[in-house]
Amino acid sequence: MYRHSLLTGHAVMTRKLALLFLLATLPFTACDKVRDKVPFLKKKVAATPAPVPAVAAPAAASTGTAAPTTAVTAPARSNIDTNAQVVVLCYHRLEGKAGGTLSIEPAVFEKQMEAIKESGVAVISMKDFLAWRRGEKTIPPKSILITIDDGYVSGFDVGVPILKKYGFTATFFIYTDYLNRGGKSMTWDQLRKLDQDGFEIGCHTVSHLDLRHKPSKWAGDYDSWLKDELERSKKILEENLGIKCSVFAYPFGLHKDVVRTAVEAAGYDAAFTTYGARLGHGANAFTLGRYDVTAKMAGNQQVFDVALNFTGMAAPSSAPAMAQDAATSMITEPMHNTTTADAMPVVKANLATLGDFEPGSVEMRISGLGVVPAKYDAASKMIEYKVAKPLREGSYTVIIGYQAAGQRRDTRWAFHYSATGEAPPEPATPPTATPKPLKKPVKR
Ligand SMILES: [Zn+2]
Repeated sequence: MYRHSLLTGHAVMTRKLALLFLLATLPFTACDKVRDKVPFLKKKVAATPAPVPAVAAPAAASTGTAAPTTAVTAPARSNIDTNAQVVVLCYHRLEGKAGGTLSIEPAVFEKQMEAIKESGVAVISMKDFLAWRRGEKTIPPKSILITIDDGYVSGFDVGVPILKKYGFTATFFIYTDYLNRGGKSMTWDQLRKLDQDGFEIGCHTVSHLDLRHKPSKWAGDYDSWLKDELERSKKILEENLGIKCSVFAYPFGLHKDVVRTAVEAAGYDAAFTTYGARLGHGANAFTLGRYDVTAKMAGNQQVFDVALNFTGMAAPSSAPAMAQDAATSMITEPMHNTTTADAMPVVKANLATLGDFEPGSVEMRISGLGVVPAKYDAASKMIEYKVAKPLREGSYTVIIGYQAAGQRRDTRWAFHYSATGEAPPEPATPPTATPKPLKKPVKR
């Protein structure tokens, strides 16, 4: 079943490319207000080279070749593909059912790697991803980053052989309290071997707690705790492995303004959440979304397909607060940017990734139809509407409006209807143009 949906997605994909790029620019209304806070190319002022320990250790061949700092401020070269897109996959344990809710069957993991290989989408390294972001190196138009979180030994003894079989690299996000703890934790020797084999190591805090709240057992203030979680873990990994640990993953994908600021201050170049999105060149460096491929949520089986087919939402390039809220991994039907041949489709979405909102405030609007009487089930977080009158051929935007933290917000996706199921012809306008206005503007 999983392969079937994968292949179906591919079959229609090339025809949809133009539409995909066009609709990727759909605005998030609430984003407009939020400022672009943390430009990726921010120069590290007074980069304090002295305290950085042993970066040039011999084992760090895979990570020790950082570009000279002068290149950071150089303008992007013309051969850098700034239209390329990256999706990031997030795994945890590769132990099947024994590993609990964050685990995936090794056979499913291998099938997914095989699907990536067959798709022709490139798997790139974290180093290349960061170099592309800095404008130093180009990447294929569609690229994938593979990440494995927490430091379970199954990543090493199950994941690595499979990754090597397909010639893929990956980044391991480690939280240092769990390292070398026996049981199912990875050892320092295994982590060293990963580094020597060209896999990359990122940081995932000391204790894997929700960084938005200080634990009561910490005697100091919130800032000192945050600094400890972010800086001590980095130092432990860097000193023991002789690497530069430049990327970070938020535990549970959770962050807030002060956390993101602290992550940047701790010297990380990029930080990852678990709100999957297609990442463009300008995507905010400290809210880089990953598809949590093992998340146990309704519709989970589609997450991998959405990621591999690049049919998910595009990450906003600014507005970190909205990036977390924008339902970037919301599973929808019809899927974003797809064409349906059903004139009266069921339109639905899983709102589980929206976070906390007032259940009674949810409404669905469809361009050309206005507010529709959708059913929302608070238990499953599914919203659903069966279109009652046949649609006319064309594109439709679905907007889910809701109330959260005292504010009205919305998130949206688009699909196309044609009787033949054929995607619309390429638009005459270039892909970067503003999408044409909806036939009937949505009132707000
Ligand atoms: Zn984790």
